[in-house]
Amino acid sequence: MADARPRTRVVILGGGTAGWMTAAALANDLAPIADIRLVESADIGIVGVGEATLPHIRQFVQHLGIDEGAFMAATHATFKLGIAFEGFGAIGDRYIHPFGTFGRDLAGVAFHHYWLRAGGRVPIGQWSVAVAAAEANRFAHPNPADPELAGSYGYAYQFDATRFGPFLRDYAVARGVARTEATVRSVERDGTTGDIAALHLDTGERIAGDLFVDCSGFRNLLLGGELDEAWEDWSGWLPCDSAAAMPCASPEGAIEPYTRAVAMPAGWRWRIPLRHRVGNGYVFASDHVSEDEACEALIAAVEGEPLTEPRVLRFRAGRRRRSWVRNVVGVGLASGFLEPLESTSIYLVQAAITRLIELFPAGGIADADRNAFNRLVDMEYDRIRDFLILHYHATRRDDSTFWDHVRTMAVPDSLAEKLALWRATGRVARYGEGLFLEPSWVAVLIGQGILPDAYDPRAAIPDDAAMDRAMQDLRARVGATAIAMPEHRASLAAMR
Ligand SMILES: Cc1cc2nc3c(=O)[nH]c(=O)nc-3n(C[C@H](O)[C@H](O)[C@H](O)COP(=O)(O)OP(=O)(O)OC[C@H]3O[C@@H](n4cnc5c(N)ncnc54)[C@H](O)[C@@H]3O)c2cc1C
Repeated sequence: MADARPRTRVVILGGGTAGWMTAAALANDLAPIADIRLVESADIGIVGVGEATLPHIRQFVQHLGIDEGAFMAATHATFKLGIAFEGFGAIGDRYIHPFGTFGRDLAGVAFHHYWLRAGGRVPIGQWSVAVAAAEANRFAHPNPADPELAGSYGYAYQFDATRFGPFLRDYAVARGVARTEATVRSVERDGTTGDIAALHLDTGERIAGDLFVDCSGFRNLLLGGELDEAWEDWSGWLPCDSAAAMPCASPEGAIEPYTRAVAMPAGWRWRIPLRHRVGNGYVFASDHVSEDEACEALIAAVEGEPLTEPRVLRFRAGRRRRSWVRNVVGVGLASGFLEPLESTSIYLVQAAITRLIELFPAGGIADADRNAFNRLVDMEYDRIRDFLILHYHATRRDDSTFWDHVRTMAVPDSLAEKLALWRATGRVARYGEGLFLEPSWVAVLIGQGILPDAYDPRAAIPDDAAMDRAMQDLRARVGATAIAMPEHRASLAAMR
Protein backbone atom coordinates (compact mmCIF):
# COMPACT_ATOMS: atom_id res chain seq x y z
CA MET A 1 0.00 0.00 0.00
CA ALA A 2 1.33 3.47 -0.87
CA ASP A 3 2.47 5.68 2.02
CA ALA A 4 -0.37 8.15 2.70
CA ARG A 5 1.68 10.61 4.73
CA PRO A 6 1.92 14.00 2.99
CA ARG A 7 5.45 14.66 1.78
CA THR A 8 7.14 18.03 1.52
CA ARG A 9 9.51 18.63 -1.37
CA VAL A 10 12.58 20.37 0.05
CA VAL A 11 15.11 21.87 -2.34
CA ILE A 12 18.46 22.90 -0.86
CA LEU A 13 20.41 25.29 -3.06
CA GLY A 14 24.13 25.01 -2.30
CA GLY A 15 26.53 22.27 -1.31
CA GLY A 16 28.90 24.04 1.07
CA THR A 17 29.02 23.38 4.79
CA ALA A 18 25.55 24.92 5.25
CA GLY A 19 23.95 22.94 2.42
CA TRP A 20 25.29 19.55 3.44
CA MET A 21 24.68 20.11 7.16
CA THR A 22 21.05 20.92 6.26
CA ALA A 23 20.74 17.92 3.95
CA ALA A 24 22.25 15.50 6.50
CA ALA A 25 20.09 16.74 9.37
CA LEU A 26 16.87 16.77 7.36
CA ALA A 27 17.59 13.30 5.98
CA ASN A 28 18.19 11.99 9.50
CA ASP A 29 15.11 13.56 11.08
CA LEU A 30 12.55 13.97 8.30
CA ALA A 31 13.17 11.38 5.58
CA PRO A 32 9.76 9.72 6.06
CA ILE A 33 7.92 13.00 5.40
CA ALA A 34 10.26 14.92 3.08
CA ASP A 35 11.78 14.46 -0.36
CA ILE A 36 15.13 16.21 -0.12
CA ARG A 37 17.08 17.41 -3.08
CA LEU A 38 20.31 19.41 -3.15
CA VAL A 39 21.71 21.40 -6.07
CA GLU A 40 25.36 22.43 -6.08
CA SER A 41 27.53 23.95 -8.75
CA ALA A 42 30.99 22.63 -9.49
CA ASP A 43 31.66 25.83 -11.45
CA ILE A 44 30.98 28.07 -8.46
CA GLY A 45 32.46 25.97 -5.69
CA ILE A 46 32.38 26.60 -1.95
CA VAL A 47 33.93 29.27 0.25
CA GLY A 48 36.25 26.56 1.67
CA VAL A 49 37.11 28.22 4.98
CA GLY A 50 35.48 27.69 8.38
CA GLU A 51 37.75 25.44 10.37
CA ALA A 52 37.11 26.36 13.99
CA THR A 53 33.87 25.38 15.69
CA LEU A 54 32.02 25.63 19.01
CA PRO A 55 31.15 22.74 21.35
CA HIS A 56 27.58 22.56 19.99
CA ILE A 57 28.93 20.86 16.86
CA ARG A 58 29.34 17.69 18.90
CA GLN A 59 25.60 17.46 19.48
CA PHE A 60 25.12 17.78 15.74
CA VAL A 61 27.54 14.96 14.98
CA GLN A 62 26.16 12.75 17.76
CA HIS A 63 22.55 13.37 16.74
CA LEU A 64 23.38 12.08 13.27
CA GLY A 65 24.74 8.92 14.89
CA ILE A 66 28.24 9.57 13.53
CA ASP A 67 31.19 8.04 15.35
CA GLU A 68 33.50 10.74 16.71
CA GLY A 69 36.72 8.94 15.72
CA ALA A 70 35.54 8.35 12.16
CA PHE A 71 34.40 11.94 11.86
CA MET A 72 37.64 13.34 13.19
CA ALA A 73 39.78 11.12 10.97
CA ALA A 74 37.79 12.05 7.84
CA THR A 75 38.03 15.79 8.51
CA HIS A 76 41.61 15.77 9.94
CA ALA A 77 40.15 17.25 13.10
CA THR A 78 41.89 18.28 16.29
CA PHE A 79 40.31 19.08 19.66
CA LYS A 80 39.62 22.69 20.62
CA LEU A 81 39.34 23.91 24.23
CA GLY A 82 38.92 27.60 23.47
CA ILE A 83 40.49 30.58 21.74
CA ALA A 84 43.65 32.40 22.80
CA PHE A 85 43.34 36.14 22.19
CA GLU A 86 46.67 37.88 21.84
CA GLY A 87 47.16 41.62 21.78
CA PHE A 88 43.47 42.57 21.89
CA GLY A 89 43.27 44.45 25.21
CA ALA A 90 46.76 45.90 24.69
CA ILE A 91 49.90 44.93 22.81
CA GLY A 92 51.51 42.03 24.69
CA ASP A 93 48.28 40.92 26.45
CA ARG A 94 47.11 37.35 26.17
CA TYR A 95 44.18 35.39 27.57
CA ILE A 96 42.20 32.29 26.66
CA HIS A 97 38.44 32.31 26.28
CA PRO A 98 37.80 28.71 27.31
CA PHE A 99 34.87 26.39 26.70
CA GLY A 100 34.28 26.04 30.40
CA THR A 101 33.80 27.67 33.74
CA PHE A 102 36.14 29.51 36.08
CA GLY A 103 36.51 28.19 39.62
CA ARG A 104 33.39 27.25 41.49
CA ASP A 105 30.31 29.25 42.42
CA LEU A 106 29.87 29.62 46.16
CA ALA A 107 26.57 30.36 47.94
CA GLY A 108 25.02 31.26 44.58
CA VAL A 109 27.71 33.81 43.77
CA ALA A 110 29.83 33.36 40.64
CA PHE A 111 33.52 32.66 41.16
CA HIS A 112 34.77 35.84 39.50
CA HIS A 113 33.32 37.91 42.36
CA TYR A 114 35.59 36.03 44.83
CA TRP A 115 38.47 36.46 42.42
CA LEU A 116 37.81 40.22 42.33
CA ARG A 117 37.61 40.31 46.11
CA ALA A 118 41.02 38.59 46.24
CA GLY A 119 42.46 41.47 44.23
CA GLY A 120 42.31 39.96 40.74
CA ARG A 121 46.09 39.78 40.40
CA VAL A 122 46.57 36.10 39.48
CA PRO A 123 45.12 35.48 35.98
CA ILE A 124 41.61 34.06 36.35
CA GLY A 125 42.49 31.41 33.75
CA GLN A 126 44.44 29.62 36.47
CA TRP A 127 41.07 28.54 37.86
CA SER A 128 39.92 27.07 34.55
CA VAL A 129 40.71 23.45 33.70
CA ALA A 130 40.17 24.19 29.99
CA VAL A 131 42.69 27.04 30.10
CA ALA A 132 45.23 25.04 32.11
CA ALA A 133 44.93 22.06 29.73
CA ALA A 134 45.18 24.31 26.66
CA GLU A 135 48.30 26.01 28.02
CA ALA A 136 49.86 22.59 28.62
CA ASN A 137 48.82 21.28 25.15
CA ARG A 138 46.84 18.51 26.80
CA PHE A 139 43.42 17.08 26.18
CA ALA A 140 41.08 14.52 27.74
CA HIS A 141 37.36 14.07 27.18
CA PRO A 142 35.44 15.78 30.00
CA ASN A 143 34.15 13.58 32.79
CA PRO A 144 30.56 14.58 33.63
CA ALA A 145 30.82 12.73 36.97
CA ASP A 146 33.21 15.45 38.18
CA PRO A 147 31.46 18.76 37.33
CA GLU A 148 33.85 20.78 39.48
CA LEU A 149 37.09 19.84 37.70
CA ALA A 150 37.39 17.09 35.05
CA GLY A 151 33.85 17.84 33.86
CA SER A 152 34.04 21.65 34.10
CA TYR A 153 34.71 22.22 30.40
CA GLY A 154 33.51 21.38 26.94
CA TYR A 155 35.34 21.03 23.67
CA ALA A 156 34.87 21.54 19.96
CA TYR A 157 36.76 20.57 16.81
CA GLN A 158 39.12 22.28 14.45
CA PHE A 159 38.74 20.61 11.06
CA ASP A 160 39.43 20.86 7.36
CA ALA A 161 36.46 22.80 5.97
CA THR A 162 36.86 21.24 2.54
CA ARG A 163 36.36 17.77 4.02
CA PHE A 164 33.40 18.43 6.30
CA GLY A 165 30.85 19.00 3.49
CA PRO A 166 31.87 15.92 1.46
CA PHE A 167 31.75 13.78 4.63
CA LEU A 168 28.17 14.90 5.26
CA ARG A 169 27.32 14.54 1.57
CA ASP A 170 28.10 10.82 1.70
CA TYR A 171 25.99 10.54 4.84
CA ALA A 172 23.05 12.43 3.31
CA VAL A 173 23.11 10.70 -0.07
CA ALA A 174 23.18 7.31 1.67
CA ARG A 175 19.95 8.37 3.43
CA GLY A 176 18.09 9.29 0.28
CA VAL A 177 19.06 12.90 -0.48
CA ALA A 178 19.07 13.42 -4.27
CA ARG A 179 22.08 15.41 -5.44
CA THR A 180 22.22 17.39 -8.66
CA GLU A 181 25.38 19.02 -9.89
CA ALA A 182 24.41 22.03 -11.99
CA THR A 183 24.24 25.81 -11.89
CA VAL A 184 20.93 27.59 -11.31
CA ARG A 185 20.23 29.94 -14.21
CA SER A 186 16.81 31.30 -13.25
CA VAL A 187 14.14 31.10 -10.61
CA GLU A 188 10.45 30.51 -11.30
CA ARG A 189 7.81 32.13 -9.10
CA ASP A 190 4.26 30.91 -8.56
CA GLY A 191 2.04 33.38 -10.44
CA THR A 192 -0.65 33.30 -7.75
CA THR A 193 1.20 33.19 -4.42
CA GLY A 194 4.52 34.78 -5.39
CA ASP A 195 6.34 31.89 -3.68
CA ILE A 196 9.25 30.24 -5.38
CA ALA A 197 8.01 27.37 -7.51
CA ALA A 198 11.14 25.95 -9.14
CA LEU A 199 14.80 26.38 -10.01
CA HIS A 200 15.89 26.20 -13.65
CA LEU A 201 19.32 24.68 -14.16
CA ASP A 202 21.92 25.12 -16.88
CA THR A 203 21.28 21.49 -17.81
CA GLY A 204 17.73 22.44 -18.80
CA GLU A 205 16.25 20.63 -15.81
CA ARG A 206 13.47 22.20 -13.73
CA ILE A 207 13.48 21.43 -10.02
CA ALA A 208 10.17 22.15 -8.29
CA GLY A 209 9.75 22.36 -4.53
CA ASP A 210 7.47 23.33 -1.64
CA LEU A 211 10.25 24.65 0.59
CA PHE A 212 13.60 26.08 -0.59
CA VAL A 213 16.61 26.32 1.68
CA ASP A 214 18.99 28.97 0.36
CA CYS A 215 22.53 27.80 1.14
CA SER A 216 24.04 29.58 -1.86
CA GLY A 217 26.64 31.38 0.26
CA PHE A 218 27.59 35.00 -0.34
CA ARG A 219 25.82 34.87 -3.74
CA ASN A 220 22.56 34.65 -1.84
CA LEU A 221 20.54 33.74 -4.91
CA LEU A 222 17.06 33.29 -3.44
CA LEU A 223 16.68 35.28 -0.21
CA GLY A 224 18.69 38.34 -1.17
CA GLY A 225 18.53 37.93 -4.95
CA GLU A 226 15.10 36.73 -6.05
CA LEU A 227 13.17 37.85 -2.93
CA ASP A 228 15.27 40.97 -2.41
CA GLU A 229 15.12 40.76 1.39
CA ALA A 230 16.71 43.87 2.93
CA TRP A 231 20.28 43.74 4.25
CA GLU A 232 21.02 44.99 7.75
CA ASP A 233 24.53 46.41 7.64
CA TRP A 234 26.74 46.13 10.73
CA SER A 235 30.01 47.22 9.18
CA GLY A 236 29.98 50.42 11.28
CA TRP A 237 30.64 48.24 14.33
CA LEU A 238 32.49 45.39 12.66
CA PRO A 239 34.64 47.09 10.03
CA CYS A 240 36.61 44.02 8.88
CA ASP A 241 35.44 43.21 5.37
CA SER A 242 38.16 40.93 3.96
CA ALA A 243 40.32 37.98 4.83
CA ALA A 244 43.53 36.61 3.36
CA ALA A 245 43.72 32.86 4.01
CA MET A 246 46.84 30.74 3.68
CA PRO A 247 47.53 27.28 5.16
CA CYS A 248 51.02 26.31 6.28
CA ALA A 249 52.77 23.08 7.21
CA SER A 250 52.40 21.82 10.77
CA PRO A 251 55.46 22.42 12.91
CA GLU A 252 57.09 19.51 14.71
CA GLY A 253 56.09 19.00 18.31
CA ALA A 254 52.89 19.75 20.15
CA ILE A 255 49.58 20.47 18.44
CA GLU A 256 47.77 23.20 20.33
CA PRO A 257 44.25 22.20 21.40
CA TYR A 258 43.00 25.72 20.78
CA THR A 259 42.63 28.38 18.12
CA ARG A 260 44.77 31.51 18.24
CA ALA A 261 43.43 34.96 17.38
CA VAL A 262 46.29 37.44 17.17
CA ALA A 263 45.49 41.15 16.91
CA MET A 264 47.01 42.87 13.86
CA PRO A 265 47.23 46.58 12.96
CA ALA A 266 44.01 46.44 10.90
CA GLY A 267 42.20 43.41 12.30
CA TRP A 268 43.41 40.05 13.55
CA ARG A 269 44.97 36.81 12.40
CA TRP A 270 43.75 33.26 13.02
CA ARG A 271 45.90 30.19 13.54
CA ILE A 272 44.02 26.88 13.59
CA PRO A 273 46.08 23.70 14.05
CA LEU A 274 44.69 20.66 12.22
CA ARG A 275 46.23 17.19 12.09
CA HIS A 276 47.86 17.60 8.70
CA ARG A 277 48.41 21.37 8.43
CA VAL A 278 47.73 24.71 10.10
CA GLY A 279 45.04 27.10 8.86
CA ASN A 280 45.97 30.81 8.89
CA GLY A 281 44.22 33.96 7.84
CA TYR A 282 44.30 37.73 8.35
CA VAL A 283 40.83 39.23 8.79
CA PHE A 284 41.25 42.90 7.93
CA ALA A 285 39.44 46.16 7.29
CA SER A 286 40.22 47.32 3.76
CA ASP A 287 39.71 50.95 4.85
CA HIS A 288 42.80 50.59 7.04
CA VAL A 289 45.16 48.32 5.08
CA SER A 290 45.51 47.40 1.41
CA GLU A 291 45.06 43.85 0.18
CA ASP A 292 48.74 43.59 -0.79
CA GLU A 293 49.91 44.86 2.59
CA ALA A 294 47.59 42.43 4.38
CA CYS A 295 48.91 39.48 2.35
CA GLU A 296 52.50 40.51 3.05
CA ALA A 297 51.76 40.85 6.76
CA LEU A 298 50.19 37.39 6.80
CA ILE A 299 53.12 35.78 5.00
CA ALA A 300 55.52 37.44 7.44
CA ALA A 301 53.56 36.32 10.48
CA VAL A 302 52.78 32.70 9.61
CA GLU A 303 54.74 30.22 11.72
CA GLY A 304 55.43 27.39 9.26
CA GLU A 305 56.14 26.81 5.59
CA PRO A 306 53.30 28.30 3.47
CA LEU A 307 51.44 25.68 1.43
CA THR A 308 49.74 28.09 -0.99
CA GLU A 309 49.66 31.77 -1.90
CA PRO A 310 47.24 33.85 0.20
CA ARG A 311 43.66 33.73 -1.08
CA VAL A 312 41.60 36.87 -0.46
CA LEU A 313 37.89 36.73 0.38
CA ARG A 314 35.56 39.71 0.68
CA PHE A 315 32.51 39.95 2.93
CA ARG A 316 30.18 42.32 4.74
CA ALA A 317 29.18 42.16 8.39
CA GLY A 318 25.43 41.97 8.79
CA ARG A 319 22.46 39.86 7.91
CA ARG A 320 19.25 39.68 5.95
CA ARG A 321 16.52 41.37 7.97
CA ARG A 322 14.53 38.10 7.92
CA SER A 323 15.96 34.67 7.22
CA TRP A 324 12.66 32.91 6.45
CA VAL A 325 10.63 34.76 3.82
CA ARG A 326 7.75 33.15 1.89
CA ASN A 327 8.88 29.55 1.23
CA VAL A 328 12.60 30.34 1.37
CA VAL A 329 14.79 29.77 4.43
CA GLY A 330 18.31 31.23 4.31
CA VAL A 331 20.95 29.17 6.13
CA GLY A 332 24.67 29.89 6.36
CA LEU A 333 26.36 32.74 4.55
CA ALA A 334 23.14 33.31 2.57
CA SER A 335 21.44 34.54 5.75
CA GLY A 336 24.26 36.75 7.01
CA PHE A 337 27.85 36.89 8.14
CA LEU A 338 29.63 37.72 11.34
CA GLU A 339 33.37 37.47 11.08
CA PRO A 340 35.05 34.35 12.48
CA LEU A 341 36.57 35.92 15.62
CA GLU A 342 34.59 33.55 17.88
CA SER A 343 34.02 30.74 15.33
CA THR A 344 30.26 31.28 15.29
CA SER A 345 29.14 30.75 11.67
CA ILE A 346 28.82 26.98 11.72
CA TYR A 347 27.01 27.29 15.05
CA LEU A 348 24.53 29.67 13.39
CA VAL A 349 24.00 27.12 10.62
CA GLN A 350 23.31 24.46 13.21
CA ALA A 351 20.92 26.67 15.21
CA ALA A 352 18.96 27.50 12.05
CA ILE A 353 18.68 23.85 11.02
CA THR A 354 17.56 22.76 14.48
CA ARG A 355 14.81 25.38 14.51
CA LEU A 356 13.78 24.60 10.93
CA ILE A 357 13.30 20.95 11.86
CA GLU A 358 11.28 21.93 14.94
CA LEU A 359 9.07 24.17 12.80
CA PHE A 360 9.04 21.98 9.71
CA PRO A 361 5.81 22.76 7.86
CA ALA A 362 3.17 20.11 7.32
CA GLY A 363 1.22 21.31 4.30
CA GLY A 364 1.29 25.13 4.15
CA ILE A 365 3.78 27.38 5.91
CA ALA A 366 2.25 29.33 8.82
CA ASP A 367 3.26 32.94 9.52
CA ALA A 368 3.71 31.97 13.16
CA ASP A 369 6.40 29.47 12.18
CA ARG A 370 8.24 31.98 10.03
CA ASN A 371 8.08 34.53 12.83
CA ALA A 372 9.30 32.07 15.45
CA PHE A 373 12.23 31.13 13.22
CA ASN A 374 13.14 34.73 12.49
CA ARG A 375 12.96 35.67 16.17
CA LEU A 376 15.49 32.96 17.00
CA VAL A 377 17.85 34.08 14.24
CA ASP A 378 17.54 37.73 15.39
CA MET A 379 18.39 36.77 18.96
CA GLU A 380 21.40 34.67 17.97
CA TYR A 381 22.83 37.26 15.59
CA ASP A 382 22.32 40.19 17.96
CA ARG A 383 24.02 38.40 20.87
CA ILE A 384 26.99 37.31 18.78
CA ARG A 385 27.32 40.77 17.22
CA ASP A 386 27.58 42.44 20.64
CA PHE A 387 30.06 39.86 21.88
CA LEU A 388 32.29 40.36 18.84
CA ILE A 389 32.16 44.14 19.12
CA LEU A 390 33.29 43.82 22.74
CA HIS A 391 36.60 42.26 21.60
CA TYR A 392 37.39 45.34 19.55
CA HIS A 393 35.91 48.07 21.68
CA ALA A 394 37.35 46.88 25.02
CA THR A 395 40.90 47.84 24.10
CA ARG A 396 43.56 50.26 25.19
CA ARG A 397 45.31 50.03 21.83
CA ASP A 398 45.99 53.30 20.07
CA ASP A 399 48.71 52.18 17.68
CA SER A 400 46.75 52.27 14.40
CA THR A 401 43.78 54.01 12.79
CA PHE A 402 41.86 50.73 12.98
CA TRP A 403 42.21 50.34 16.76
CA ASP A 404 41.55 54.04 17.29
CA HIS A 405 38.31 53.67 15.37
CA VAL A 406 37.00 50.60 17.21
CA ARG A 407 38.08 51.88 20.63
CA THR A 408 36.24 55.17 20.24
CA MET A 409 33.18 54.15 18.18
CA ALA A 410 29.65 54.18 19.64
CA VAL A 411 28.44 50.64 20.33
CA PRO A 412 24.88 49.22 20.18
CA ASP A 413 22.71 50.16 23.18
CA SER A 414 22.39 46.50 24.13
CA LEU A 415 26.17 46.25 24.54
CA ALA A 416 26.51 49.65 26.22
CA GLU A 417 24.01 48.48 28.88
CA LYS A 418 25.91 45.25 29.49
CA LEU A 419 29.16 47.15 29.86
CA ALA A 420 27.62 49.65 32.27
CA LEU A 421 26.19 46.86 34.44
CA TRP A 422 29.53 45.06 34.50
CA ARG A 423 31.52 48.17 35.34
CA ALA A 424 29.22 49.15 38.20
CA THR A 425 28.53 45.74 39.76
CA GLY A 426 30.66 42.98 38.21
CA ARG A 427 27.46 41.31 37.03
CA VAL A 428 26.80 39.94 33.58
CA ALA A 429 23.27 40.31 32.23
CA ARG A 430 21.98 36.73 32.18
CA TYR A 431 20.00 34.99 29.51
CA GLY A 432 18.65 31.50 29.36
CA GLU A 433 19.33 30.51 25.77
CA GLY A 434 21.65 31.43 22.97
CA LEU A 435 25.40 31.68 22.84
CA PHE A 436 27.97 33.13 25.19
CA LEU A 437 26.78 32.84 28.74
CA GLU A 438 28.35 34.42 31.81
CA PRO A 439 31.77 32.67 31.77
CA SER A 440 32.39 33.80 28.18
CA TRP A 441 31.67 37.44 28.95
CA VAL A 442 33.78 37.22 32.10
CA ALA A 443 36.68 35.72 30.12
CA VAL A 444 36.72 38.50 27.54
CA LEU A 445 35.93 41.42 29.88
CA ILE A 446 38.61 40.46 32.39
CA GLY A 447 40.94 39.23 29.65
CA GLN A 448 40.82 42.62 27.99
CA GLY A 449 41.37 44.51 31.20
CA ILE A 450 37.87 45.80 31.98
CA LEU A 451 37.66 45.30 35.72
CA PRO A 452 34.47 46.37 37.50
CA ASP A 453 34.32 48.96 40.28
CA ALA A 454 32.54 46.54 42.62
CA TYR A 455 31.76 42.88 43.18
CA ASP A 456 28.79 41.05 44.63
CA PRO A 457 28.64 42.06 48.33
CA ARG A 458 27.96 38.45 49.30
CA ALA A 459 31.48 37.57 48.12
CA ALA A 460 32.80 39.55 51.11
CA ILE A 461 31.08 37.24 53.64
CA PRO A 462 33.63 34.37 54.02
CA ASP A 463 36.60 35.28 56.23
CA ASP A 464 39.89 36.16 54.54
CA ALA A 465 42.01 33.21 55.64
CA ALA A 466 39.40 30.57 54.75
CA MET A 467 38.76 32.22 51.40
CA ASP A 468 42.44 32.43 50.57
CA ARG A 469 43.00 28.76 51.44
CA ALA A 470 40.02 27.65 49.37
CA MET A 471 41.17 29.68 46.36
CA GLN A 472 44.72 28.33 46.51
CA ASP A 473 43.49 24.78 46.98
CA LEU A 474 41.15 25.03 44.01
CA ARG A 475 43.88 26.54 41.83
CA ALA A 476 46.21 23.64 42.67
CA ARG A 477 43.51 21.07 41.87
CA VAL A 478 42.74 22.76 38.54
CA GLY A 479 46.43 22.59 37.58
CA ALA A 480 46.74 18.96 38.70
CA THR A 481 43.64 17.97 36.71
CA ALA A 482 45.12 19.48 33.55
CA ILE A 483 48.56 17.96 34.02
CA ALA A 484 47.02 14.50 34.54
CA MET A 485 45.60 14.63 30.98
CA PRO A 486 47.45 13.06 28.06
CA GLU A 487 49.14 15.30 25.53
CA HIS A 488 46.80 16.49 22.80
CA ARG A 489 48.77 14.58 20.18
CA ALA A 490 48.40 11.36 22.18
CA SER A 491 44.65 11.92 22.59
CA LEU A 492 44.36 12.37 18.82
CA ALA A 493 46.34 9.20 18.16
CA ALA A 494 44.09 7.29 20.56
CA MET A 495 41.02 8.33 18.54
CA ARG A 496 42.17 6.54 15.42
C1 LIG B 1 37.39 34.23 6.10
C2 LIG B 1 36.35 33.33 6.70
C3 LIG B 1 36.70 32.52 7.78
C4 LIG B 1 35.73 31.70 8.37
N1 LIG B 1 36.05 30.97 9.47
C5 LIG B 1 35.09 30.28 10.12
C6 LIG B 1 35.36 29.54 11.30
O1 LIG B 1 36.50 29.44 11.75
N2 LIG B 1 34.33 28.91 11.91
C7 LIG B 1 33.06 28.95 11.43
O2 LIG B 1 32.14 28.40 12.05
N3 LIG B 1 32.79 29.59 10.28
C8 LIG B 1 33.75 30.26 9.63
N4 LIG B 1 33.46 30.91 8.47
C9 LIG B 1 32.14 30.78 7.88
C10 LIG B 1 32.01 29.42 7.19
O3 LIG B 1 33.01 29.30 6.21
C11 LIG B 1 30.65 29.31 6.54
O4 LIG B 1 29.65 29.59 7.47
C12 LIG B 1 30.42 27.93 6.03
O5 LIG B 1 31.45 27.50 5.21
C13 LIG B 1 29.12 27.85 5.27
O6 LIG B 1 29.23 28.39 4.00
P1 LIG B 1 27.99 28.21 3.03
O7 LIG B 1 27.71 26.76 2.88
O8 LIG B 1 26.89 29.08 3.51
O9 LIG B 1 28.51 28.84 1.65
P2 LIG B 1 29.51 28.25 0.53
O10 LIG B 1 30.55 27.38 1.09
O11 LIG B 1 29.95 29.43 -0.25
O12 LIG B 1 28.59 27.36 -0.40
C14 LIG B 1 27.73 27.92 -1.36
C15 LIG B 1 27.19 26.82 -2.24
O13 LIG B 1 26.19 27.39 -3.10
C16 LIG B 1 26.41 26.91 -4.40
N5 LIG B 1 25.89 27.88 -5.37
C17 LIG B 1 26.02 29.23 -5.36
N6 LIG B 1 25.39 29.77 -6.44
C18 LIG B 1 24.87 28.72 -7.13
C19 LIG B 1 24.13 28.60 -8.34
N7 LIG B 1 23.80 29.66 -9.09
N8 LIG B 1 23.77 27.37 -8.74
C20 LIG B 1 24.08 26.26 -8.04
N9 LIG B 1 24.77 26.31 -6.88
C21 LIG B 1 25.17 27.52 -6.45
C22 LIG B 1 27.90 26.72 -4.52
O14 LIG B 1 28.21 25.81 -5.55
C23 LIG B 1 28.22 26.15 -3.14
O15 LIG B 1 28.00 24.76 -3.16
C24 LIG B 1 34.42 31.68 7.85
C25 LIG B 1 34.11 32.45 6.73
C26 LIG B 1 35.05 33.28 6.16
C27 LIG B 1 34.68 34.11 4.97
